[in-house]
Amino acid sequence: MPRTRILVTLGPSSGSPEIIQRLLEAGVDAFRVNFSHGDDAEHRAVLRRIRDACRNAHRPAIRMADLQGPKIRLGEVPGGPVILSPGAMLRLTPDPVPGDAGRMSVSLPDLLQVCHPGERILLGDGVVELRVEEVQGAEVRTRVIQGGAVGSHQGVFLPDAKLRPDILGAKDLHDLAVALEEEVEWVALSFVQGAADLRLARSRIRELASDRWVGLVAKVERKEAVENREEILAEADALMVARGDLGIETPLPDLPWTQKMLIRAANQAGKPVIVATQMLLSMVHSARPTRAEVTDVANAVLDGADCLMLSDETAVGEFPVETVRYLTEIAERAEAIPPPPYGDLGPPRILDSDEAAVAEAAIRLAQGIQARAIVVPTHSGRTARLVARLRPRIPMLVLTSQAETPAALGFTWGARCEEVPSHLPLEALRDMARRTAADVFGLKAGDKIVLTAGYPLEGRPTNLVTVAEV
Ligand code: PEP
Repeated sequence: MPRTRILVTLGPSSGSPEIIQRLLEAGVDAFRVNFSHGDDAEHRAVLRRIRDACRNAHRPAIRMADLQGPKIRLGEVPGGPVILSPGAMLRLTPDPVPGDAGRMSVSLPDLLQVCHPGERILLGDGVVELRVEEVQGAEVRTRVIQGGAVGSHQGVFLPDAKLRPDILGAKDLHDLAVALEEEVEWVALSFVQGAADLRLARSRIRELASDRWVGLVAKVERKEAVENREEILAEADALMVARGDLGIETPLPDLPWTQKMLIRAANQAGKPVIVATQMLLSMVHSARPTRAEVTDVANAVLDGADCLMLSDETAVGEFPVETVRYLTEIAERAEAIPPPPYGDLGPPRILDSDEAAVAEAAIRLAQGIQARAIVVPTHSGRTARLVARLRPRIPMLVLTSQAETPAALGFTWGARCEEVPSHLPLEALRDMARRTAADVFGLKAGDKIVLTAGYPLEGRPTNLVTVAEV
């Protein structure tokens, strides 16, 4: 199995217990339930099915609730999609009117206040482009620049407008309560703009599930989020490069560089980063991916993605399990690509803290003595993240006594976890590390391992590096 994590979106193609089980067997680490679609009963049922499948397979996996967030949509267009031709006039209104080729409703109460002449409005997957001509009465009058088919509930994007939407609207608050009642481990926030959005979500989660650790993924899909990536990374537990909406909100040709920049920022911050959307899209209908997709997936791994996400491929595709098999195989091959000439740790980097330097020293030591494993006893998972961000070739094994730490590390590259008793003295911890690493990696007598940790394990920065022999 690759050390890169695999996250899949469940949907009509994959929500049955049989397919969930096959996805787990194929190497899936995490499941996304997309709250933009379906109702409470469906969300609860699928979250329970994942939980049961994991129990049956004795294989833990993350359940992530992806909240819709302040997505703007068209209203109803009765009679199906209409074709908008270039040069035509389309009037938009916040009023709930039935739509046609001349006028459509938009689910943004302050539409009239945020639109200004000359600004762009994009519809659907961003192909249809409108230009605002004027705001008149209760309508925004727009000219169709690029035409196409437009239908009910399609997305509406205002890339030039200053929006101040509520990160958690009434639907999101309701969905969040449902997801937390079902004890999801992670929640993904859509259309985040800055750190304040994450703080708000965090406080709501605390009110609803005060006694549990719940991870927060910031989906980067607005240009404000790209600009505010550092403050977002400081508050979030993981970042998602949500290329679907990001590729509409920001110019498409900028996407490759934006992806690399976001991955680098997350790696540097020691937070896991998920690359999402259209990774193997052709496999929705085809048993084989395209050359471009295979290359894109491999490049995401080489860029430093911790986790790769499938969306339509597994939610509505014809080949959900085969797609996961391709994804894992491509990721495995990319991980095995020989390192560049400057060595396994890549170019010299700024050691941003003493504990980062200790984690790096542990990897250099492990390489130097040809250790077979780097073992990381950890309370919160912090040391494991510091080691993982350097992508050591030597396998890493995380030991923890904390029930929530395996889930907290569920998106972190290569963080394979095993449970150990709490409060072990150092010698007992070394014994445990020897035995567990031998079991997990099939080590033999005389094989060496390197241990690194913040010791004592509760709340200390990474301060320990030591060698042990099996
Ligand atoms: C995306 O836009 O890439 C994304 C992951 O979000 P969603 O699938 O919820 O639109």
